[in-house]
Amino acid sequence: MWKRTIIKNYTAESPKISGFSSRSGRLNKELTGNCLNPQVSNNLFIHLNSTTLMVLPMEPEFTKEELLNLQEKKFKHTIELAFKTKLYSKKFKEAGLTQADIKNTEDLIKIPFSSKQDIVKDYKAAIADYDDLSVFHTTSGTSGTPTVVGYTNNDVEVQTTNEARNLQTAGFKKGDIVIQTASYGMFFAGLCFHEALRRFGAVVVPAGKQATSRQQADIIRFYRPTGVIGIAQFMLKWATLYEEMFGEDPRESSLNRGYALGEPVSEDKRKRIEKIWDIDLRIGYGLTEAGSGGECEEKHGVHWPEDLSLVEVIDPETDERVAEGERGEMVYTTISRTGTLAIRYRSRDSSYMVPGSCSCGRITRKVMPPEFRLDSLVKIKGTLTSPFAIDSAIFSYEGVRDYLVVVSEDASGLDRIDVFIDSNSLTPSQIESLSDRFGGKVWFNPSSVKLVEKDSIPVIGRKGKKLIDLRAEGDYGDELKTFLEKYGESSE
Ligand SMILES: [Zn+2]
Repeated sequence: MWKRTIIKNYTAESPKISGFSSRSGRLNKELTGNCLNPQVSNNLFIHLNSTTLMVLPMEPEFTKEELLNLQEKKFKHTIELAFKTKLYSKKFKEAGLTQADIKNTEDLIKIPFSSKQDIVKDYKAAIADYDDLSVFHTTSGTSGTPTVVGYTNNDVEVQTTNEARNLQTAGFKKGDIVIQTASYGMFFAGLCFHEALRRFGAVVVPAGKQATSRQQADIIRFYRPTGVIGIAQFMLKWATLYEEMFGEDPRESSLNRGYALGEPVSEDKRKRIEKIWDIDLRIGYGLTEAGSGGECEEKHGVHWPEDLSLVEVIDPETDERVAEGERGEMVYTTISRTGTLAIRYRSRDSSYMVPGSCSCGRITRKVMPPEFRLDSLVKIKGTLTSPFAIDSAIFSYEGVRDYLVVVSEDASGLDRIDVFIDSNSLTPSQIESLSDRFGGKVWFNPSSVKLVEKDSIPVIGRKGKKLIDLRAEGDYGDELKTFLEKYGESSE
């Protein structure tokens, strides 16, 4: 028999724990046992017939005060660990900080920032418990060299719990059959979602990244899943294929919920996916280095696991903290990990904290999923533009199925922007007016907008890159070359 409990009053020093039932709120003496890993969380899941303990995959039911106390306790422990690492001890020393100078989270502001470059330079330097490592993962490599993150067993538990909580926040539940399409391998996301789903009793179909979208649509038809985890753009693509391959309206499929990750999703795109599949689509956001959050029913920001990871927002120019609700660079500090630590880690993600409390009743604060990474901005015709702004502009058009924007340099050295659209319903005059729409949202007019054959747009990169900058170094593969030979400027 499994029973959900909230465990209180345990400390790292005393592995004996006691808990009370979350339903009755009463102390339950039966629920006393050994905590296998006291650093994990103060929320545990107990198997009453054995001593097995698992982390409770629920939104913790602590009060704000309890959360703050927990943060202080975990922060203190993390700083002790950080002093043992090569990277952070060096940073502390350079800043003239001793352990006595960092007493509580208010002292966080004294600590120097860390960055992806620090970890890239020497990934071992940021690891606290090197002897306890369990697995290495890399970040998705959204920009440049992948960052190696070492997880101890504790960290794997923490992140799996974190993800299980996010998925449940997003409405996934026991009994759901879920097609998990985040890739398995060097990235943690696939494995983590896989384990997180199992954690609360959902059934996983570990599709991972399939070679073709047709295979993915096939899997959706065959297993009759109730949920899907994956990249939003691909969910759209599968819907078109589903209809084409099986002659069935995707709305009639078994799917009723989705969880989108890995890239920003505009509201227009969310609505499109929700309508085409008739599902409830929630968004998840996270970093391998620092943690992750998921959207609740408000669909306005992800609840950040503040008991596992602290969050700050700074002005990327002045490095000063900004007011709640103001946009800036997201900075994270892990307070539950023992492998790779992130201490005031600059994510390069541009976003803000959603002010006020959430109507869902959760007390954790919300981070708006970032619209862009500070490194992903592309200068087009002299103005910095984000791929997200282009995506929003294009998807505000009802009939768009897929698209690709290619930025290049023309013979006279000026920026050239070619937009390729896959649509079954846009008329040539609407395509024409898309140029104007662009002008309103992203401050440049494309050099050309062309309709292309259905499904002809190549999938570039793991996440299906939509903005290709040919002016920058990079190999985008033969598929793009063939595509541009057919539709590009020189084909005219
Ligand atoms: Zn909420």
